[in-house]
Amino acid sequence: MTGTRVLVLNSGSSSVKYQLLDMRDGSRPAVGLVERIGESGSRLQHSPAHGESRERNGSVPDHDAALKAMAAELDRDGLGLDSPELAAIGHRVVHGGLRFTEPTVVDDAVLAEIERLIPVAPLHNPANLTGIRTARALRPDLPQVAVFDTAFHTTMPESAARYAIDVETADAHRIRRYGFHGTSHAYVSRETARLLGRAPEDVNVIVLHLGNGASASAVRGGRCVDTSMGLTPLEGLVMGTRSGDTDPAVIFHLMRVGGMSADEIDTLLNKRSGLIGLCGDNDMREIRRRVDAGDERAALAFDIYIHRLKKYIGAYYAVLGRVDAVAFTAGVGENSAPVREAALAGLEGLGLAVDGGLNAVRGDGARLISPADARVAVAVVPTDEEMEIATQTYALVKDSGNLT
Ligand code: ADP
Repeated sequence: MTGTRVLVLNSGSSSVKYQLLDMRDGSRPAVGLVERIGESGSRLQHSPAHGESRERNGSVPDHDAALKAMAAELDRDGLGLDSPELAAIGHRVVHGGLRFTEPTVVDDAVLAEIERLIPVAPLHNPANLTGIRTARALRPDLPQVAVFDTAFHTTMPESAARYAIDVETADAHRIRRYGFHGTSHAYVSRETARLLGRAPEDVNVIVLHLGNGASASAVRGGRCVDTSMGLTPLEGLVMGTRSGDTDPAVIFHLMRVGGMSADEIDTLLNKRSGLIGLCGDNDMREIRRRVDAGDERAALAFDIYIHRLKKYIGAYYAVLGRVDAVAFTAGVGENSAPVREAALAGLEGLGLAVDGGLNAVRGDGARLISPADARVAVAVVPTDEEMEIATQTYALVKDSGNLT
């Protein structure tokens, strides 16, 4: 008998999210989260499919302790890391550079390469690495697979991936557009094709991943040809706390005239800009509540958010030439009918329209919200990055005979 379960780990700097998936039927025997690692008031939340959710509070000083606490909870449900049912552990890794175009079984050379990419992903890759090393130490015999957020975007042509700056300087510092959220864009573009009853190879999709972080991508026949995030996740759409696109000269101006340091500007653009910088809130529910109550700052923030989104939809329409579907996903995309309606308002000339009734209906699954006779389908497609990581991980260990 071979195992059919995959444990998916998403290790951040102070949290670890985990999901155990069974690839036989797509079920999730357990999901959980360890928060505030290395801080006061650490917390573990564990929800088995069969049984009550549990919460533990106490000290979790590091990732080693976090994964051991997770393993102990899984053990209590008979789902421990030593179970023969466990086929592999799949890790979300944010930056895979140009080298990692596919999910990859982790060995020492792979770890060294992920480490070499830290300068282009200083916030994420160190935490991802710690998660992999810790999991490896717990189960050295089990295949560990790295699934990269950038991988789906490595098919972008050079014309989309390169910035128009001096080539030697750019190459010396590995400056180019890498894109992020790739696991979500891959999953959602495929699910959109499935919703249309067509093969991914035959369908062109604009995917709008609108969460707290947000990115758009243009997907032609299943392959990404452009995406809005760049060297880092700062570029592109207006996000919860990130500015998205600005004139790079804003930075020189803030340094020279505003007297700010590079680190201060980094914090300004990544943490104190976007919706929160514009109106003091980054939750779209609260912003809409304020807009409906007549709050002008919230209304302007909403309008700026929508204006940028619309520009990217138009840009990617032009990049693709023919668009079969626009898909909304992630927290805002899946839940905010006003954002979906406003983003496509006035685009009927492009064949894009939202049916008010369908848009207002709340639902869990993938669904169409465009009128029946629309030229371009508009869809809401819930993303599932854990399922995608598990699917890619399982396919790799099965094919390569890595299965225990
Ligand atoms: P992350 O980027 O953190 O993964 P999510 O995809 O979970 O983010 O999206 C979180 C965001 O989704 C919240 O900040 C909020 O703006 C938005 N959101 C969540 N639920 C709703 C809702 N019911 N209506 C509107 N916006 C929502």
